[in-house]
Amino acid sequence: MLRADSKGDTVQRLGRNQGAYHGEGIDIAAILDADVRAAEAHGWQTEWLRVTDDLRLLALRRQHPRARRRIYLSTGIHGDEPAGPLAVGQLLETDAWPAGSDLWLCPCLNPTGFPLNRRENAEGKDLNREYRHPTSGEIRTHIAWLERQPDFDLSLCLHEDWEAHGFYVYELNPSGVPSLAETIVDAVARVCPIDLSPLIEGREARGGIIRPSLDPRSRPDWPEAFHLMQYKTRLSYTLEAPSDFPLAVRVAALVAAVQAALSAVPQR
Ligand SMILES: [Zn+2]
Repeated sequence: MLRADSKGDTVQRLGRNQGAYHGEGIDIAAILDADVRAAEAHGWQTEWLRVTDDLRLLALRRQHPRARRRIYLSTGIHGDEPAGPLAVGQLLETDAWPAGSDLWLCPCLNPTGFPLNRRENAEGKDLNREYRHPTSGEIRTHIAWLERQPDFDLSLCLHEDWEAHGFYVYELNPSGVPSLAETIVDAVARVCPIDLSPLIEGREARGGIIRPSLDPRSRPDWPEAFHLMQYKTRLSYTLEAPSDFPLAVRVAALVAAVQAALSAVPQR
């Protein structure tokens, strides 16, 4: 588990986030342009999903000739969580994906939230509560695209939490397949503190891992991970970087989490 001498333990909170995220924002349009260039250079298929005349979502896909697992990743659904888009940008740029997987990637599900550096989209909607009864064009478009894709062996949703004392992860694993959560946390602990609180976001946590109770029907507002669990995958992780820490640390945490999960997911 956690190493007392790990580099992650020496990183300190900035104390900047009072009542909301008050850290740096990102130029999402420039990041998505760079994503497309890197994706095309490394053999991905790129697709722009039309939401309106002025708004499109980027969806990327890459097939590996001998792939034996299908992995879905998304990020940028909350416009005040810059580390996710930066982390997938870095993974695309350096082509640092562990081999052997077909990959599906949505690098930014909330392109209008980032210019405002706020959680919701430009219309004030929290897109990650829209998956049961979608009212936003972004999530209707995203769900329609997901319906055209096959099932996934693993899905990863990259997020940040402005209140967190360190990295943590939600696991949805209703069939009880081998868990990747400890592997993910161990990898992240080398670069970023882990939130070891017994209660995170009102839910029981242990060693930075939350395994929430699982009846999606009990919740009226579904996050993306509930939709994925209901329709697309048996194993889902929501990765939460602590956004009161330096941005480079949060990006490193998410990159390490993705690489650890992709390396550890069993082949079928
Ligand atoms: Zn989030």
